[in-house]
Amino acid sequence: MTDSLDLLPYGMGTPDLVEFQPGYFVDRAIVGDLQALSDEAKANGFELRLESAYRSFEKQLSIWNRKARGELALLSATGEPMERPQDEEELMFAILTWSALPGASRHHLGTDIDVVDGAACPEGYEVQLTPAECEGMFAKFHAFLTERIDAGSSFGFSRVFVPGRGKIRPEGWHLAHLSTSRKRLEHFSLDVLRSIYERSDMECKQAVLDNLPHLAEEYIYPYFI
Ligand SMILES: [Zn+2]
Repeated sequence: MTDSLDLLPYGMGTPDLVEFQPGYFVDRAIVGDLQALSDEAKANGFELRLESAYRSFEKQLSIWNRKARGELALLSATGEPMERPQDEEELMFAILTWSALPGASRHHLGTDIDVVDGAACPEGYEVQLTPAECEGMFAKFHAFLTERIDAGSSFGFSRVFVPGRGKIRPEGWHLAHLSTSRKRLEHFSLDVLRSIYERSDMECKQAVLDNLPHLAEEYIYPYFI
């Protein structure tokens, strides 16, 4: 853990990032392909707009901890606000329904993005990133993406959180530049992640440590594709 490069898969260290859209950073290695996908979308009447891109460990930890402390809303599997469970393990699973484990979010890689069609977004509308939006106002954009992904002409981008894979809910809006993300994940180690947790001020830490191998099988490794 002395080489900072080893910590990149966990959202730590110093990745080589480029600000692709205001406030949204991606790994320099994917910029060319992302620009190409964006240009292709534009030629088809869409505006590929980022809603999320690179996220650091600290940022993901902050989301996790605020959900655990009741400072951010906890949503049930169907998307409704829910009571905060008192049991630490139940609370952990409730957070995992919609939020990745800090250190194991694909947004740490700089190769993954959440996208919407800015051209179809009503003025002043606050994007939620929900399946309802994918099937509603962004349906044509997603049909375009699906067609390109299926045809192998999506400049290396694919969906990762798809039905039937792992325990994370499907996220049609989440795209990954797979060949680059595979390189970033080559040296991912659960032991390193464990040691990061042991030294962090993470809520539900004991429940996460007690369940880590099992959590990895359901929430982490299925998405190393
Ligand atoms: Zn995402």
